[in-house]
Amino acid sequence: MSQPPFDPADLERRILAAIRRGASMEDIAELRPGRMTSPEDAIQALIDGNARFFSGKATRPEADANQRRAQIMGQTPFAAVLACSDSRVPVEIVFDQGLGDLFVVRVAGNVVGESVLGTLEYATEHLHVHLIVVMGHEGCGAVAAALLPEEQLEREPEHLRHLIARIQPCVQSLPPIRDKKARMREAVLNNVRYQVQNLRQQPVIQAAEARGQIRVIGAFYEIGSGAVDFLIDEEDLRP
Ligand SMILES: [Zn+2]
Repeated sequence: MSQPPFDPADLERRILAAIRRGASMEDIAELRPGRMTSPEDAIQALIDGNARFFSGKATRPEADANQRRAQIMGQTPFAAVLACSDSRVPVEIVFDQGLGDLFVVRVAGNVVGESVLGTLEYATEHLHVHLIVVMGHEGCGAVAAALLPEEQLEREPEHLRHLIARIQPCVQSLPPIRDKKARMREAVLNNVRYQVQNLRQQPVIQAAEARGQIRVIGAFYEIGSGAVDFLIDEEDLRP
């Protein structure tokens, strides 16, 4: 997908003019560069943004005063991302996206729970995002904890144990892999697949997928390289 060259000064003028004529939030969203209209556009925007990030060409788009002002009227993110709270996985930076672009939920181990689901239902029904990405990452502490023997987890606080218990079913059934790094990667990937399946079974998300509004995909962020691998095909997403 090729986008027209981005001219911030021109955008600023058009946003200001739109504010002056009392344009709606949708009208202003239309002015933003690279307006996403389908799940495929959204996936491509994340692939392109991540490529800018890991190749050291990030634009780190920070809105100026006029663009920020335009956002007071509402938000029109093109994708929702469920990622881990890990401080090394800042979603907007990793995908080189700016203010108002991504609707982000971060929770240790990127697990789906009640609040996460409610947040993603909101993104789907009210913000009309085109994509939901569940993103795991290299060296995830929550997934590593789910691989520990039960007696070691008994000492952990109650709510943390509940969170780990949501990851355990997807990592305990894995075939034995001797290489520790490969084993961890497979565990993280399987957790991502499991959470994607979990989301896709929820009625609101299922219906949005069926009518072609959204796709639910997985991703794996490699801390060392900065690159994100996407799990897009059904084959890649099967736990
Ligand atoms: Zn993590």
